[in-house]
Amino acid sequence: MEKNDVESVKKLISTPKNIIIVAHKNPDGDAIGSSLGLYHYLNIMGHKATVIVPNDYPEFLKWMPGTETIVNYEASKDTSDILINSADIIFTLDFNLLSRSGSMASALENSEAIKIMIDHHQQPDTYAKYTYSDTSMSSTSEMIYHFINKMGDISLVTKEMATCLYAGIVTDTGSFRFASTTAQTHEVVADLIKKGAKNDYIHNSIFDNNSYHRMQLLGCALNNMKVLPELKTAYITLSQAELNKYNFVKGDTEGFVNYGLSVKGIVFAAIFIENLQENIVKISFRSKGDFSVNEFARKYFNGGGHNNAAGGRS
Ligand code: 5GP
Ligand code: MN
Repeated sequence: MEKNDVESVKKLISTPKNIIIVAHKNPDGDAIGSSLGLYHYLNIMGHKATVIVPNDYPEFLKWMPGTETIVNYEASKDTSDILINSADIIFTLDFNLLSRSGSMASALENSEAIKIMIDHHQQPDTYAKYTYSDTSMSSTSEMIYHFINKMGDISLVTKEMATCLYAGIVTDTGSFRFASTTAQTHEVVADLIKKGAKNDYIHNSIFDNNSYHRMQLLGCALNNMKVLPELKTAYITLSQAELNKYNFVKGDTEGFVNYGLSVKGIVFAAIFIENLQENIVKISFRSKGDFSVNEFARKYFNGGGHNNAAGGRS
């Protein structure tokens, strides 16, 4: 974000506004963590901010402070449209193409509110008046920390904000292990702990709340894994019937794709998940090193993401 834009945004939010914060469809930990972190900040600053997500998100994210205030567009379209129509400012977080907001895309496109994009994915679109895009960032949650800092308000970060931003960073960095985790990420996280984020509580809430069914589904997924050593590739499939067998609920397959990369010598992993309701196969890709799954997903599966983590569909 250019210095001029920082000054303009500072001025823009110096008086109370109606603000909508939107995250991408099928929100993940970073989408929810960054949205709620920004939500707490803007409300403390005297704005009337509301988070709207295009559709529901997994149970393992529903403990974050403020989660009860999130509006689900799919479930409350009329309320959401009223909120969007009366918004002065719309922040779009953790995505950079309006189509990634699913059924909200046209409402966002038609809105006259000033749009501000904060995002770390590649090839940002140009729909926002102010764009804070940085593909070197571990997560949008880390960027919200820097955004609050740019606004001159880092001393105002509360325990609630710190908790949400920590949760977003830990999920998007695979618990601080992906290459996108920098020294600066650790500095931000250290400061979030100083500001009240309880790392053990957050890890437990996200990662140690598995249902028995989910563990059995993981067993099924690992059993289905195929390895193609000559292509340094591993892939997993899950059919709708298998998902049904283990009482699949949203979020249950989160992270499964990473197991492919944990096999010795594998640098490219994929998971194919059948969704009969939407009549698609949702695909997630992960890689190590310089094989760009973002380009791969864009070229072949109408998707996108980052160099080492991307998704698409067939
Ligand atoms: P996941 O595989 O965990 O769903 O997503 C990995 C990364 O790719 C995330 O940053 C996500 O936003 C992005 N991504 C996943 N699916 C799609 C898609 O269909 N289109 C685009 N543009 N990005 C996607
Ligand atoms: Mn993210």
